[in-house]
Amino acid sequence: MSTDSLTENPSRSAREETRAPGAAGLRNGPDTRDEIFVGGVWTRGSGALIESVNPATAEVFATLHAATAADVDAAVAAGLEAVKASGWARRLPHERAAVLHRISSAIEANADRIAELQTLDTGKSLVETKALAMSAAATFRFTAAALETMEDALTPPRGNYLSMSTYEPIGVVGAITPWNSPIASDAQKVAPALAAGNAVVVKPPVWAPWVSLLLARLCEQAGLPAGLLSVLPGPGRVVGDAVAKHPDVGKISFTGGTSTGRQLAHIAAEKIMPITLELGGKSPTVIFADADVDQAVAGVLYGIFSSSGQSCIAGSRVFIQRAVYDDVVERLVKGAKSLRIGPGTDPATQVGPLVAFAHRDTVAGMVEAAKSAGAQVLCGGAVPTESRLQGGAFYEPTILAGVSNSDAICQQEIFGPVAVILPFDDEADLIAQANDSVFGLACGIWTADYRRAWRLARAIAAGTVWINTYKQFSISTPFSGLKESGLGTEKGRDGIRSYMRQKSIYMDLSGAPIPWAGL
Ligand code: NAD
Repeated sequence: MSTDSLTENPSRSAREETRAPGAAGLRNGPDTRDEIFVGGVWTRGSGALIESVNPATAEVFATLHAATAADVDAAVAAGLEAVKASGWARRLPHERAAVLHRISSAIEANADRIAELQTLDTGKSLVETKALAMSAAATFRFTAAALETMEDALTPPRGNYLSMSTYEPIGVVGAITPWNSPIASDAQKVAPALAAGNAVVVKPPVWAPWVSLLLARLCEQAGLPAGLLSVLPGPGRVVGDAVAKHPDVGKISFTGGTSTGRQLAHIAAEKIMPITLELGGKSPTVIFADADVDQAVAGVLYGIFSSSGQSCIAGSRVFIQRAVYDDVVERLVKGAKSLRIGPGTDPATQVGPLVAFAHRDTVAGMVEAAKSAGAQVLCGGAVPTESRLQGGAFYEPTILAGVSNSDAICQQEIFGPVAVILPFDDEADLIAQANDSVFGLACGIWTADYRRAWRLARAIAAGTVWINTYKQFSISTPFSGLKESGLGTEKGRDGIRSYMRQKSIYMDLSGAPIPWAGL
């Protein structure tokens, strides 16, 4: 879908979640204090009250006063001041790297605490949230190493001068993040932005603000100079918009829906400001007749149903070569039916609740619309009826068939545990269907023929291609989306560069006047 319907607005904020009767026991704890982090100061936000709901139980577990546009002004001013006062931008790379290493260690030491908080807030399984916390620690550590090894360039001169290409910090950058993998998306922006010598204002999502605030506490404890990091939860249209439009914010790094990304790109165009966009997807995952079926089925199930499908790179369009279609579909359906649905706190859970009841209802609505348009439900397609799952925002792993790639259900991002199955005949047919999408984020190819895999990896428009695997990530490998899936690149050794400005310097070596003046 266009991600419009996922875009936050007051009518769909956490405040209006459906709650189980009598489940209103508030219990703001040490990691859910009603405080936002503005320019190095913990303070109660003066914006609207956000109620955080555990999607596995419908219980309100904390409340938080949101930030306002005035907080954005204060955070940006503090960021500018902190960059100057702390000398952060001028600190030598190994000195900034030392702080990033300490932040990494602090995240690692608190990984269980972060994971529990994120599971409470998003419903994701503890296995996943622990992995996300560890990946955030690894991001800070990798970025510190990359920072220490970054080089400026002496470029080939065409005269008697030195010519150099150097990189400088931008100043204050804004990081606007989605709810699906909070700590990891925070780290992917905060680590390189700080490494580059900037201050960062983070705008976390209303549906999952808590781990971003905890990350700020850990950065503070690790000795990050005050003011370099602010964390301002609140509605995107208020706080995110104010961050993007602020005249002293020199770059926006955004991860979220395509429709929000497009709005931010307009703001960036007005300000002539760099922007990085990591947006939505509707990624094809392709099973050829020669594929190792066990490997392919396991990979496809993981690719779409892990994180309950709430993943930008979810392999949500499954193309199966006609010769093996019936057999593979049968195995996928059997596999999907056997997945264990449950709360993220249960170690046996494979499919947790969706992040919010409103989001679950959106996903259910899209499946209903597809059914009305003629889609055949091979499994799932409903809210589970088991009594143990009644309190949460659960949705069954769903496989739909009998659809055409041009149907809405095959073109729109669902961001839930819903796969569509499509047959194909040959490579040409497959490439045409796979590329018939506004998105270009990821692709999975399952085949024993590596020459074919290589051809397809080049022919399919996707920022990341997995061959006989799926959803594997290394922080050292760049990540980007093509078409409406994004603009610019994150991660990788050069990820820090995207938070810097390039400058060229020419320095005379001759000592002689330029002849033109005739002196
Ligand atoms: P979203 O676009 O609704 O919100 C993302 C962030 O933007 C939130 O912090 C939100 O408050 C803020 N925001 C919303 N409207 C805004 C506005 N007008 N101005 C400024 N900020 C605004 O997305 P979401 O529902 O939080 O996340 C799901 C989407 O994120 C999916 O489309 C998914 O594919 C995408 N995503 C992409 C990647 C990637 O790397 N490509 C990774 C994760 C998620």
